[in-house]
Amino acid sequence: MAGTVRPPRLLALSLGGTITMTAATGGGIAPTLGAGDLVAAVPELAAVAEITARSPFRLGSASLTLANIVQVAAEIHAAFAEGYDGAIVIQGTDTIEETAFALDLMVRDARPVVVVGAMRGPQQPGADGPANLLAAALVAASPQARGLGTLVVLNDEIHAARFVRKAHTALTSAFVSAHGGPLGLVAEGRVRVFARVAPPALPVLLPGPGELPPVALVKIGMGDDGRLLPVLPGLGYAGAVIEGAGAGHVPGVMAEAVGELAARIPVVLASRTLGGPVFESTYGYPGSEIDLIARGVIPAGLLSALKARLALVLALAAGLSRENIAELFAAFG
Ligand code: ASP
Repeated sequence: MAGTVRPPRLLALSLGGTITMTAATGGGIAPTLGAGDLVAAVPELAAVAEITARSPFRLGSASLTLANIVQVAAEIHAAFAEGYDGAIVIQGTDTIEETAFALDLMVRDARPVVVVGAMRGPQQPGADGPANLLAAALVAASPQARGLGTLVVLNDEIHAARFVRKAHTALTSAFVSAHGGPLGLVAEGRVRVFARVAPPALPVLLPGPGELPPVALVKIGMGDDGRLLPVLPGLGYAGAVIEGAGAGHVPGVMAEAVGELAARIPVVLASRTLGGPVFESTYGYPGSEIDLIARGVIPAGLLSALKARLALVLALAAGLSRENIAELFAAFG
C-alpha cells in the first residue's frame, strides 16, 4: 500500500538486573522476569515499535561475563542482518557501562544499540524500569540516535558508551558522563540529541568462539610497592591494565616492576580520576607517565580502566600486535 510506513522493528534482549528482579524466597530481590514480561508491562511501547523480546540471561550484572556479551553482540549482528532497526539490551546497572562499551566495540553499526536498566525493582514504589524501558525504545527507534554507537539510557538521559559510568549506588540519577555530559534526553516522548560523539574509526572487534584472554586490572593506592605485578603472567594473564593516580602515575618504587611486566605482556595505563586523558609528555620523574611509557606501557587515552580492560581483552582476542593495540587506544585519546 503506497504511503504505508512500517513501524520500526527492535530486538530487546534481557540479561537480568534490578529491572527484572522480584522478591526472592530467601529474602531480597533476584532476577526472575524476562524481556517479554518487561515489554508487556509497558503498553505504550506498542506505539513506538514492533518489539521482539528474548531473554538470554537472568543474572545479577556482576555475574555477566564478556563471553555473555559476545553472545549478545552476535544476536544483534544477526538481527541487523535480518533488517531490524535497533536493539535494546536490558541488564543490571552495576556493569552497564562495561556491557555498553563492549557492544560499542563489537557491533559498530549506524543503527542504535541502547543499554538500559533500573535502579529500583519493579515491585518497589517509584520503580523506574518501565519509564527507562520506554525511553530506551524511543531512542533505539529514533533516526536521531543513528551513528552514535552504543548508548545507555537511564533517568531520561542518553549517554555515550565511551563516557558513561555509574556514579552512585542508589539514586535514579546514578549515571553520569565525563567529558561533556549526556548526549541528549527524552522528554514528552521525544528524543532530543544535543551533542554527538564521532565514533573512532576502528575495526569490529567481535571475537569468534573460544576462551577470551584474561586481562588483570590493578588499582594503585598510596604506598603500593607493586609486588602483585610479577606474578600476573604466571597466573595466566595475557595483559594488564594499571589504574594509576592522577594523570597516570605509580609510586617510583613500582616503576621497574611495571616495565618488566610490560616487557612480558601488554600493559595499559589508565587514570583512577575517571576524568581527563592519561598524560603522555608532562611529568618526568620515576613512576610518571613519561617514565612508564618509556618502559613500554600504553596510555588508555580517555578510557576508564574498566573500559580499557575490555578493549584490551578484545584486542588480544583479535590477535592485534602491540603497535595496533597502541593505535586502538590512541583512537580514544
Ligand atoms: N544494582 C543492580 C541493578 O541496578 C543489580 C545488577 O546490576 O544486576 O540492576
